[in-house]
Amino acid sequence: MSDCLFCKIIAGTIPSRKVHEDDRVYVFEDIDPKAPTHVLIVPKQHIVGLNTATEADANIIGYMHLVAAKIGRERNIEDGYRTVLNVGPRSGQSVFHIHLHLLGGRDLKWPPG
Ligand code: AMP
Ligand code: ZN
Repeated sequence: MSDCLFCKIIAGTIPSRKVHEDDRVYVFEDIDPKAPTHVLIVPKQHIVGLNTATEADANIIGYMHLVAAKIGRERNIEDGYRTVLNVGPRSGQSVFHIHLHLLGGRDLKWPPG
């Protein structure tokens, strides 16, 4: 999608601090980190959000979580991290290309705000 911020980041037309890339996902540092580790795991295919996902998206949504777990292992934050999908404007979703937040490296309060 030509007007999508994350599609532009994946295409390299907007710069990002890349953490990982493979054929299915692009992972980069959040520009406004809320924790010492705050990366975004983004599928290369444009899915708007969990609320529009279908059975056809089940594999990629699962894979995004496994990539988060791998980064959590690599960064040694397995004593406590959180994966978050904001879904819809009331949750704070501001970019409508699905992305999994991986937050860790500090104590995380529950419930989130
Ligand atoms: P959400 O609010 O769940 O839609 O998350 C969008 C995230 O994208 C926020 O945490 C933003 O800080 C982050 N973000 C927005 N623009 C950029 C950018 N150009 N590079 C990296 N992260 C970004
Ligand atoms: Zn997109």
